[in-house]
Amino acid sequence: MENCIFCRIANRETPARIVYEDERVLAFEDIRPQSPVHLLVIPRKHWMTLGDVAPEDGALLGHLFIVAARVARERGLEGTGYRTVINNGAWAGQTVDHLHVHVLGGRVFHWPPG
Ligand code: AMP
Ligand code: ZN
Repeated sequence: MENCIFCRIANRETPARIVYEDERVLAFEDIRPQSPVHLLVIPRKHWMTLGDVAPEDGALLGHLFIVAARVARERGLEGTGYRTVINNGAWAGQTVDHLHVHVLGGRVFHWPPG
């Protein structure tokens, strides 16, 4: 989608520190990390929120999380644990309207979230 920063990253029109990529998804470093490890995993397909994911897209959504686990493992986060987050919409704090999974690790996180 035009003017979407994450579509632009997926199309290599905007630079990013990409750590994983395949034909369906990519993972890259968050530009404003909130923890020692902060990666974003996105589908190449432009979904705004989880509400845009159709039942037939389940395999892609599943793959997104498989890759989130893979990059977390590669960063050595499996032992300590890590957090995966999807913010959907304004009240959740979503600022980029292209669905993304945050992979956060390297420090302790609290619950409930702020
Ligand atoms: P959210 O607030 O859940 O929509 O998360 C959007 C995330 O994207 C934030 O953590 C931003 O720091 C991050 N972000 C925005 N622009 C870029 C960019 N060009 N490259 C990498 N991360 C970005
Ligand atoms: Zn997009």
